[in-house]
Amino acid sequence: MSTDRDVAALRERMHELSALRGAKDLLSWDQMTYMPPGGAHARGAHGSVIDRLLHERMVDPGLQRLLERLRTHADSLDPLVRDEVSVLTRDVELAARYPSALVAEVSAHGSACFEAWRVARERDDFGVVATLLERSLDLTHRLAACHPDAAHPADPFIDAADEGMSVALLQPLFTELREALVPMVDAVAERGEPRAVLPVHRSGEAQLALALRLAVDLGYDVWRGRQDLAPHPFATRIGHGDVRITSRVDATDLQETLFSTIHEAGHALYEQGLDDALDGTALASGVSAGVHESQSRLYENLVGRSRAFWRYALPHVQAAFPELAHLDVETAYRAVNRVRRSLIRTDADELTYNLHVIVRFDLELELLAGSVSVSDLPEAWAERYRRDLGVVPNGAADGVLQDLHWYGGAIPGHFQGYTIGNVLSVAFFDAARAALGDLDDQLAAGDFAPLRAWLREHVHAHGRRFRPLELAERVTGASLRVEPYLGYLRTKYLYDTAATDAVA
Ligand code: ZN
Repeated sequence: MSTDRDVAALRERMHELSALRGAKDLLSWDQMTYMPPGGAHARGAHGSVIDRLLHERMVDPGLQRLLERLRTHADSLDPLVRDEVSVLTRDVELAARYPSALVAEVSAHGSACFEAWRVARERDDFGVVATLLERSLDLTHRLAACHPDAAHPADPFIDAADEGMSVALLQPLFTELREALVPMVDAVAERGEPRAVLPVHRSGEAQLALALRLAVDLGYDVWRGRQDLAPHPFATRIGHGDVRITSRVDATDLQETLFSTIHEAGHALYEQGLDDALDGTALASGVSAGVHESQSRLYENLVGRSRAFWRYALPHVQAAFPELAHLDVETAYRAVNRVRRSLIRTDADELTYNLHVIVRFDLELELLAGSVSVSDLPEAWAERYRRDLGVVPNGAADGVLQDLHWYGGAIPGHFQGYTIGNVLSVAFFDAARAALGDLDDQLAAGDFAPLRAWLREHVHAHGRRFRPLELAERVTGASLRVEPYLGYLRTKYLYDTAATDAVA
């Protein structure tokens, strides 16, 4: 019957799209790990050809007709194919909004901007990228103009990363968070004290080996993965059997290696936990930036920064690093939960982290609205940091240039996922705890399989089958709510006296 032929044709097209995406992801992985600096120009050119091919195939009228036919026979389709058709239809509609020439322009500008950002950051000179950033803002407006129906010009970018979210939905939640967090940080943050560390003297290799061992215990499958070094750690899925993590090493502080690895392992567990049946379909990835981040933050913070976890981890840490033999669980727990006012988002502790994100989210909206200009951005940044975090950057490198997100083409839509992820991480973990009972005992015993199996069943296996808010509601029984997350932070940082004797 003709539907069977159409499903076979869909498989063929998806096979090609998956191959192009896998090739692009492998090129990007190489660019962020092993590529020599001199390769940047050629890599930018190779990447933009693949971007163009992907876009051409996505907006191909033949694919649109195929999807239309499949939608008219939706009732007779296998549920998996029906979900795939629905997700792919949304992807195609989004791609089709943008003219190919504009996509190519953004991609080429993104590469140039990224390289300029690297130089600017090295020289601590915002002037190096300012003109390119003006152009990014202009391109952002042109992309936004392809969505004349959007309520806010940032909404299409937010929706592309975190479907169903919008400025109208997020702004009140972020304001609620900010108003609660600023006084909490005032109450808890240490002032003027050096950062607490797990000081070690052995090589980065020993640190990486230990971190990977913990990741494997958490469930990361190295037969279908590998670990490498990267200055900006990330996890990436090249294919169903190839989900890679990267780590960052500080030669003198074990925390950097441990937590960057556990964080990325959390992302990788999501991708490795996708149902086998999704392989090669449009459903085969995490559903959104925020839900992805919920998994990495769940493992990094709710598991990795818990007392229970350190009961399991400390003997392994001490076996690998005898210089830490003097630590007890409580001291280690406090060292990895020290709160501090800081300038750098990626170094931020759990309590201050969202304030860093909200500064960026708000400034993106102000840039788009024109109430902050590109040339005023460093000043506006410094002012927000002074107000929200009580610290002022020394220059652009530890201020407005610290993250790469604004320097790759279009500006908005990259940061909200971090805070959505933090909020959801607690909601998911609470649901897991309710289902699994003595979760702390399991973690303390190094028995991570029940948690992983629960997350796999309720979150990972589904890939993109449920939309982010729908998934959150199915798993937690509620939509995105800030209060349970704030309750968790209060309990940990305000009411737990053992953990808060670091108060200034
Ligand atoms: Zn992450």
